[in-house]
Amino acid sequence: MTVLSNADQTFTSQWQNFVTHLECSQTGETYPAHELHGLSKTGKPLLVRYDLAALGAAMAREDLTTRPGGMWRYSELLPLRSAENLISLGEIETPLIELGSNDGTVLVKDESRLPTGSFKARGLAMAVSMAKELGVTRMAMPTNGNAGAALAAYGQRAGIETFVFCPDDTPEINVREIALQGAQVWRVNGLIHHCGRLVGEGKTAMNWFDTSTLKEPYRIEGKKTMGLELAEQLGWQLPDVIFYPTGGGTGLIGMWKAFAELAELGWLENDKMPRMVAVQATGCAPIVKAFDDGATHAEEWLDAHTVAAGIRVPVAIGDFLILAALRESGGFAIAVEDSDIQAAQRDVAHSDGLLMGPEGAATYAAYVQALDRGLVNRDDRAVLFNCGTALKYPMPAADRSLDRHGNIDFTKLGN
Ligand SMILES: *Cc1c(COP(=O)(O)O)cnc(C)c1O
Repeated sequence: MTVLSNADQTFTSQWQNFVTHLECSQTGETYPAHELHGLSKTGKPLLVRYDLAALGAAMAREDLTTRPGGMWRYSELLPLRSAENLISLGEIETPLIELGSNDGTVLVKDESRLPTGSFKARGLAMAVSMAKELGVTRMAMPTNGNAGAALAAYGQRAGIETFVFCPDDTPEINVREIALQGAQVWRVNGLIHHCGRLVGEGKTAMNWFDTSTLKEPYRIEGKKTMGLELAEQLGWQLPDVIFYPTGGGTGLIGMWKAFAELAELGWLENDKMPRMVAVQATGCAPIVKAFDDGATHAEEWLDAHTVAAGIRVPVAIGDFLILAALRESGGFAIAVEDSDIQAAQRDVAHSDGLLMGPEGAATYAAYVQALDRGLVNRDDRAVLFNCGTALKYPMPAADRSLDRHGNIDFTKLGN
């Protein structure tokens, strides 16, 4: 039996740290490891760099096989120095689920099984553990819901005070779960980047650590484990194409970084990288527009709206990194209508028994569209990311009822 406690001992014996430094993702300027950092001097995300030669000499990928499943098995590729600072709520290995009814070859990586119901758990487990290690006592972030829930959960578990700002139309369950998990949560009359501005403005008065997407270097390292885990699950052979519901893009950038690190370590069976596909909603598609325009940066998307709350991100600070990953990988960006997202959610639930969140359903809608447009082939092995549970969102009404005192014609119940 494995019991999860703080200062978890499960992983202590495997712990080794190979971080050499942090690096500005724009200029390459280096910053010391094991210190608290936000953005680089030029206002861009910082990326963690490792001594992969030393790591490769110290361990083989086969050493992983005896370890418990989940993101912490890749500790050598993570920035945490001491296992004692690890804050965990049971980040399991998420399953790959094949969609049987479709004519293509499709696997869904179902991240909704993670603590707090979304893959934000990976990023925030990492960021909060690092914050604890580096002595942070107060963290703040803007959120469309799931990141805030994960920050609240891991933050409270670490004994760190958390402040969360979300758009006032964030799914109701998200706001309430954040509050129930002990964070100070505020509804703001604006979108996520407006909330982000408040986090920045409150820094001096509140002395909180800004945990916004890509404004600190460690959430991406947690999200990176999706790529490591996917590679290992597929026998160290990456799929042909990955469809990722893209908001701030942490997961897409993180996976692309993971694949590069695995390639450099020589852990992959071949050198075939997957094509990375950014999926957005037509009501908020800044990355799709920038990709189609051949631009290196995206412009702010005005009047952003979509049922897929997790990808309603009008401004992404890592836009240039997302676009670079799409282009380097030979991938593309694609937008889907809300009506197609809803139809996709229903179709997959009906035919495969898998209830995808709207963002995950968007990747399925995008896959179908990409097949239609000849952007992918039927025999390409495609992986779709279902990043959060559908259960936090409003669902179509189901309001038929029976009068148990009346005459029930049971033969009509199937209509
Ligand atoms: C946050 C979120 C996304 C977008 O993730 P990024 O890595 O920030 O692009 C997609 N789906 C769900 C359910 C989310 O919570």
